[in-house]
Amino acid sequence: MVKKKIGFIGLGAMGKPMAKNLIKAGYDLTVHDLNPQPVEEVLSLGAKKAKTPAETAKGVEVIITILPADEEVKAVALGPEGVLEGARKGSVFFDMSSIAPHTSKYVASEAQKRGVKFLDAPVSGGTVGAEKATLTIMVGGDKALLDEHMEILQAMGKTIYHVGNVGMGETVKMVNQMLLGINLVGIAEAFVMGTKLGVAPEVLYRVIRASSGNSFLIDHRVPDYIFSGNFTQPGFAIDLLRKDLGLALESARGIKVPLFMTGQAYQYYTRATAEGLGRKDMSAIIELLEKTAGVEVRGKVE
Ligand code: NAD
Repeated sequence: MVKKKIGFIGLGAMGKPMAKNLIKAGYDLTVHDLNPQPVEEVLSLGAKKAKTPAETAKGVEVIITILPADEEVKAVALGPEGVLEGARKGSVFFDMSSIAPHTSKYVASEAQKRGVKFLDAPVSGGTVGAEKATLTIMVGGDKALLDEHMEILQAMGKTIYHVGNVGMGETVKMVNQMLLGINLVGIAEAFVMGTKLGVAPEVLYRVIRASSGNSFLIDHRVPDYIFSGNFTQPGFAIDLLRKDLGLALESARGIKVPLFMTGQAYQYYTRATAEGLGRKDMSAIIELLEKTAGVEVRGKVE
């Protein structure tokens, strides 16, 4: 079967490796990003370049966006020279950014007016998952459409769930982000405390990994980021995690659900942003606590 042509917008920490995996899987890709550097990198692998979102969407059957937040998704999808200006009737639009469910629903309704079908398909698994094509993808929208495009998503992810109507993918993602944000603050506090009390960080890591305090984040953030102190390698920016927790708090306000832990975690990331750490990987949250406690959680893992 002839593979569908794809327009791909947003070649950041996640989008660039995802686009590369689509090219590797044999898809004909047209790409767009405001930053020329990742665009050039993907062009060298055989992608075509488009100057605007509208041009990216022209002549393709599938449009994929993975952009920072609601504002960028709205601008790219609905703005002048946006996706919906160029997309042809019957094309399918997967937005893989993490945004508010209500924004997905709004973009979906605007898309529908122009005969474009929209699904929200946010991802989890980090830059490593994006590189290895092992992402978890949670999809909201028409299930038959998802099934029809499964092969495309499988080129980027390993576990793909249909979770409900448009907006539900983002809802599940938001809940996941609450756990991620809270867990990471907990890890930072616990490792700073243990180190201050005189335990070698490597010992904490080894023992906790074999104990009930272990988590996905300990595996993925302690050795490579926290122990090395290299928080500027590609990862998940504090600004983006703060945005995700903000989305959860905003949703909770309307339905009167108290989010005590999410609220506290949000304040940690806000403080980090205010101290200029916003573009660093989320694990740099530990720098705040290290400074306060006067210790550094650095180490080496064999
Ligand atoms: P990023 O900031 O690294 O990349 C975003 C890209 O979008 C950049 O290349 C930027 O130039 C481009 N962009 C921004 N505005 C644009 C516009 N108007 N037109 C064209 N291009 C534009 O972000 P990321 O880490 O790749 O995250 C993207 C999305 O995926 C976010 O919603 C994030 O919350 C989510 N996410 C990230 C991770 C992660 O580990 N980094 C994991 C899961 C989900």
